[in-house]
Amino acid sequence: MSAFSYKKNTQLEGALGRTGEITTPHGVIATPAFIPVGTKATVKAVLPESMSELGAQALLANAYHLYLQPGPDIVDEAGGLGKFMNWQGPTFTDSGGFQVLSLGVGFKKVIAMNEDTFRDDQVIADGKDRLAHVDDDGVTFKSHLDGSMHRFTPEVSIGIQHKLGADIMFAFDECTTLHNTRGYQQKSLERTRLWAKRCLVEHGRLTKARADKPYQALFGVLQGAQYEDLRRKAAKDLSALDEDGITFDGFGLGGALDKEKLGTIVGWLCEELPDNKPRHLLGIGEPDDLFVGVENGADTFDCVAPSRQARTSAVFTRDGRVNLTNSKYQRQFSPLEEGCDCYTCMHYTAAYLNHLFKAKEMLASTLATIHNERFIVRLVDQMRTSIDEGQFFDLKKEFLGRFYSAKS
Ligand SMILES: [Zn+2]
Repeated sequence: MSAFSYKKNTQLEGALGRTGEITTPHGVIATPAFIPVGTKATVKAVLPESMSELGAQALLANAYHLYLQPGPDIVDEAGGLGKFMNWQGPTFTDSGGFQVLSLGVGFKKVIAMNEDTFRDDQVIADGKDRLAHVDDDGVTFKSHLDGSMHRFTPEVSIGIQHKLGADIMFAFDECTTLHNTRGYQQKSLERTRLWAKRCLVEHGRLTKARADKPYQALFGVLQGAQYEDLRRKAAKDLSALDEDGITFDGFGLGGALDKEKLGTIVGWLCEELPDNKPRHLLGIGEPDDLFVGVENGADTFDCVAPSRQARTSAVFTRDGRVNLTNSKYQRQFSPLEEGCDCYTCMHYTAAYLNHLFKAKEMLASTLATIHNERFIVRLVDQMRTSIDEGQFFDLKKEFLGRFYSAKS
């Protein structure tokens, strides 16, 4: 008996999108769903109770950060990630693959949504001198905290994630960029496939060895950058993997995703993937990208953007993103968004938030994060309802038309 399952409900007519339910040992996630990020086992500035109240169904933490601090043994001894952070619902951890290659290498960003933001020296390429070194066995990298050297292999990543104890984990993969050559993408994809096999073997071993713990599901991560044949191959290869009966419980749609091609790439992957397993689109959280992701078959999403932007006073409204430090809010003695059902808008005025940000008060981050997380969680919830009610494309047109037309 597996404590993890996915059930599809409604198919979006004429597209790959669908509604469904992911069942985990810590509860059910109605999909599509947005999963807020608590990088270091906390959604910055917000209590887990508030996250639950604003409708978050699950939270995602980072294996890389928790490995460095406080260390997976501490989280394991605490009873796992959820118990450690006092979050009762389902949890996700990523594999650390993205972080060891982006944070560890000493450059700002490996993956961007826009090719223009790349510079040549930010690209992972064979033979470049850098602080993270990828070989066929794993990645050696420097901690961004203290410069100490560490090594992740597929076995190490799965070992860490089993100790962290999240309901959903991801296989260790090599994250490439859009600027890597096609030859490199091809080679890297094969490396990621071999790592995926090793992840399954180690996952099977640890699931047996830790049979007293709640079942943890493992998702394979699909790379292949912007190449249709590589993306389709990744989806076929990883869904066919079977190591002594151990298969992936779901899939992470990862890697370099050009914003222009996001829907197309997600579509290629979801056309190849089995219908009866969930799909998580990694690191995507802008409203237009969420619509495109849902339409093309992604079930869950995570992104740091809603909380990170909130802490810089940038908040979502139905008329687009606005900045709360703008002087026009100084005397707005009404909520930052009329009609918003979040705790912040129900209890506080835009004028007060404007004051808190200007005074650099910590409560500013808390209240703005609650609003932004509620905004994105609610938006994806609305997409789910609209698929069930046959109105997804109406919602998409209405929401995007308003969000991206009015500019403040
Ligand atoms: Zn609000």
